[in-house]
Amino acid sequence: MSDKRSVHRVCPFCEATCGLTVEVDDDAIVGVRGDRDDPFSKGFICPKAYGLKGLYHDPDRLRRPVRRTADGFEEISWEEAYDEVASRLIAIRDEHGPDAIGTYTGNPIVHDLGAVLYRPVLQRALGSRSLFNSAAIDTLPKIVQTGLMFGRSFPLAVPIPDIDRSDYLLVIGANPAVSHGSLMTMPDAPGRLKAVTERGGKLVVVDPRRSETAQIASEHHFIRPGSDAAFLLAIVHTLFEEDRVTLGAAEDLVEGLDDVQEVAREFSPESVAEHCGIEAAEIRRIARELSDAESAACYGRLGTCVQEFGTLASWACELVNILTGNLDRPGGVMFTRPAAPIDAAFDGRFAMGRWHSRVSGRPEVEGLIPSSTMAEEILTEGPGQVRAMILMMTNAARSAANSERIEEAFSRLDFLVAIDFYINETTRHADIILPTPSPAELSGYEVPFYLLSVRNIAKWSSAAMPPPDDAQEAWQVFSRIGSRLMGLDALDPQAVDDLVLRQFATAALADGAWPELSVDEVFDKVEGDIGPDRILDMLLRIGPYGDGFGRKPDGLNLRKVREAPHGIDLGPLQPRLDDVIGTESGRIALAPPTMVDDVPRLQARMARPREDVVLIGRRDMRSTNSFTHNLPALMKGRERCVLQVSPADAERLGLVPGGAARVTSRVGKLVAPVVVTDDLMPGVVSLPHGWGHAASGTRLEVANGRPGVNANLLTDNEAYDVASGTAVLFGTPVSVEPA
Ligand code: SF4
Repeated sequence: MSDKRSVHRVCPFCEATCGLTVEVDDDAIVGVRGDRDDPFSKGFICPKAYGLKGLYHDPDRLRRPVRRTADGFEEISWEEAYDEVASRLIAIRDEHGPDAIGTYTGNPIVHDLGAVLYRPVLQRALGSRSLFNSAAIDTLPKIVQTGLMFGRSFPLAVPIPDIDRSDYLLVIGANPAVSHGSLMTMPDAPGRLKAVTERGGKLVVVDPRRSETAQIASEHHFIRPGSDAAFLLAIVHTLFEEDRVTLGAAEDLVEGLDDVQEVAREFSPESVAEHCGIEAAEIRRIARELSDAESAACYGRLGTCVQEFGTLASWACELVNILTGNLDRPGGVMFTRPAAPIDAAFDGRFAMGRWHSRVSGRPEVEGLIPSSTMAEEILTEGPGQVRAMILMMTNAARSAANSERIEEAFSRLDFLVAIDFYINETTRHADIILPTPSPAELSGYEVPFYLLSVRNIAKWSSAAMPPPDDAQEAWQVFSRIGSRLMGLDALDPQAVDDLVLRQFATAALADGAWPELSVDEVFDKVEGDIGPDRILDMLLRIGPYGDGFGRKPDGLNLRKVREAPHGIDLGPLQPRLDDVIGTESGRIALAPPTMVDDVPRLQARMARPREDVVLIGRRDMRSTNSFTHNLPALMKGRERCVLQVSPADAERLGLVPGGAARVTSRVGKLVAPVVVTDDLMPGVVSLPHGWGHAASGTRLEVANGRPGVNANLLTDNEAYDVASGTAVLFGTPVSVEPA
């Protein structure tokens, strides 16, 4: 008799955390649909959710470790793999020091509870300063901005648009209708965006492309790539000039207001209009509307981050929110109060610039080195040169700027180990690949995204299928390699894990919120034997809704969260500015020197002539990361990796719809099919990222059948946002001609 069941879980393919009902028949996933009883997503899903099934059944997905040989990859046992990885890493560390081993973490890792909680175990064991991750590709400006202004580690102080109550939403450099929100966890982004206007509010989109969000907006304005900071500072200018500055909840909690006024004085709407491509009168009108709205939020994301002035644009966006009185106001931007406060387990104070990257001297941010420096740190000889890398679920050879140089760097390493389930354009360079189970085989809890959510939510995500008996999850991989690096091989995994739990508990109780609770009591009462679940149980129980290990019997623990398979709605965001600010002065730093000192660079840019054509990226509904390109359900339909060009540019450059264009930048060139569309601003062309498959040695049959072109052959790691070190991915100067 077949075993049919429905499993409720969270979709792992983007930040929106939609609830899924997965239909299982014996050892097959036979259906994926939206969970109508999920209080947050209410049945909404997008096409990517079906990828859960495709990924689980994908014959290209690795199930066992593989080792590179002269004849290709061969399967090996986990014990062989651990032995070889540990011995090679230890040899490199002993000869060249800990910084010779780098790590790079990709974004799928953040959906894996075990990986989130145990990655620090591996990183502590390594003791290396050569830490890179995907946030250092596209989020570093936000990390720097929120860290310097609020004094807290990322993402503990990220103001989230309270979209469900907002009367006015200004979206700049973001396309939440397709991305489904980033640093703003919200299922059903299209529905939530439409609801703003349906209840009489206004949705204004500012973007070089008439994006899918722009198409449902009240109004859309083209803006030249890289000019967002100037546009937003002109709004700040108008607020001061028209005596509209109001601080609301932040009234007695800010410093540096005069310095902001001084900076903004130089950015009148008239002085930035030509640079931005938006008329001064329109900028003033938007400023007045933001100021007059009952509640309003300014939201910027990728387009405001991965550009020449990413930190300044992120800063100016926050200033607009603060100076219109919308910080910590319902309908404005607010802070989530998560049920599992991961910040309890680490210091939580922001830090940057404690050391600098070895080759080009860019500052570390929260221990991360900008990913734009990764290739040079590998390729440049000298003390501290990175000679081995541990890659964790990343296809950096397609997602990082100047990817040809990244591939060259990976191919020159003494040792490369990848924790991944595909042999893709990056992992084909690995010596060993350690495959963790597919998302459908993992249970967990979206700790990072419930820190960034537009409502307070707690939900357990159940595994739809059991992993194979000999599978190793990421937390086990990190723990095993970490314990070998620390010389703890003699301890059994249980003893190592007990040490990990005690470390977490010691850190979590250090803030004194539960003075009568001891580490021993946590250790005795926490539920679970080993692994991430018992750490999560501890976090939930000491969290703001927790049971305090019996002290608040009605409070949450992991058992109660598990017993609510559709999730628990803990209500709308609540004001909590006081307990978020972590600066030494206890005030929000409105004018951090890092930003103010970077303003002359922006002014110099405004004074220079603009380039003829610049390249920007774009998101597609069916594509998150390059691994979704190997899933048949998501690869159907029209060609999506195309160069979008405006009609005016097509005419003057001699491009025709359906033809091909040769696109050339300082670092590379490619040929792409052309689509002419008036959704694009003249002077701007657009390619999606993550494509460029069919490289030799990969095992991606579906992706290799529709390879597309790699936009990061064109992006330049030496063009970067100075304040954060983030490479420019949007706004790369290119020449375009018929091919
Ligand atoms: S919006 Fe994101 S979380 Fe929701 S179904 Fe789509 S990919 Fe999954």
